[in-house]
Amino acid sequence: MHLDVPTLFILVTVVALLMALLVCVMAWGKPASAALWPWALALVAYALSNVLFGLRAYLPWGFSMVGANSSYALALALMLTAVRRFQSAQAQRWQQWGPVLLAPLVFALLYDHYLIRVVVAALLFTTQIAFILAALLDSEHPITGRGRMIVFCAFALLALTLLVRALAIWRGWLDVSSPVESNRWQAMLFIAAMGSVLSMALGFVYMTMEKAERQNFELAMKDMLTGLSNRRAISDVLQAEVARAQRQGQLLAVLMLDIDHFKKINDGYGHQAGDVVLRGVAQTLRSRLRAQDQIGRFGGEEFLLVLPDTGLEGALIVGEALRQAVEATPTQWGAQRIPTTISIGVRGGLVTGAETADTLVAAADAALYRAKHTGRNRCEH
Ligand code: GH3
Ligand code: MG
Ligand code: MG
Repeated sequence: MHLDVPTLFILVTVVALLMALLVCVMAWGKPASAALWPWALALVAYALSNVLFGLRAYLPWGFSMVGANSSYALALALMLTAVRRFQSAQAQRWQQWGPVLLAPLVFALLYDHYLIRVVVAALLFTTQIAFILAALLDSEHPITGRGRMIVFCAFALLALTLLVRALAIWRGWLDVSSPVESNRWQAMLFIAAMGSVLSMALGFVYMTMEKAERQNFELAMKDMLTGLSNRRAISDVLQAEVARAQRQGQLLAVLMLDIDHFKKINDGYGHQAGDVVLRGVAQTLRSRLRAQDQIGRFGGEEFLLVLPDTGLEGALIVGEALRQAVEATPTQWGAQRIPTTISIGVRGGLVTGAETADTLVAAADAALYRAKHTGRNRCEH
């Protein structure tokens, strides 16, 4: 195998610039992909660092070496910026720009000390990578999905490559009087570094796509006002639970809840106050439910509750507890307190083969109608 290191430099530069271009095309006109911009810039800085390394024979040596190392530090700083922006978090200024400011100074001072310079460079860059790895693992701004693991492994591999290279040069295992020398080990480490940069770029793009997918899913399944499942999502849940209850002969309860005289609240306090009441009631209901219970906003001020493994008796207890909780929690609106009550219709028990999600909802609705007509602020079945 003959690997020509200058050729590799050109290859990496072209690939990094192409990736940067692709990332720009993906980010263009998409505010949700704002984190891709610093990532594209990072790839450009990485390409620049390679150009400066590669052109060391044609440029003043100090300029090439200091410039290349500083661009490398800049690329890593921009990657940290991108990860933090992805998390909607702020990177710590010293973590972000400290190494970038330090790099030109340190490398200019180490102009004549090749070995120390290699070690210092490896330590500086791995420190920067450690900041990025810590950001990826930050539990206050969690990133879910597979993209994060790809990016994490790629950065870990890059750090490992840098450290192995520094160690090999330091101990004299890797004889390189110049980083462009065509040496097989040198070339292998170079390829490992290139592979990790490519993987982290692809991983980061994937992370962005996963985030967009998740946001779309939330938009499609969540009610924006209350944060509960929307009608479609809770209907899906109900259908699945009906099928399960029928298959396994289990109990299932369905509760329909409706705020009493909500029109009066809207008319008396304004529509905005009505929205706050809706959010408050949703919060009260959700905080009182068990983990397996599901709730969704079914209509304007109607909520649908699905309680698996629950018979009529249990459902009536839950319904009564919810009714009391809402009654005991008036909504604060400025200086005023808006008293709120709900009426509840309950349908609970075994689910026969002839029943469907729709007939269960209709039964709960009929019970709700009775609750409304027998005085409201009640739970009927
Ligand atoms: P009842 O006790 O019989 O339920 O009387 P009600 O006034 O609550 O009657 P109804 O359930 O028909 O009222 C629904 C009202 O809810 C009508 C509509 O203006 C209001 N509404 C629906 N969605 C929203 C919303 O998102 N925000 C606000 N503020 N009001 C809403
Ligand atoms: Mg109502
Ligand atoms: Mg209603």
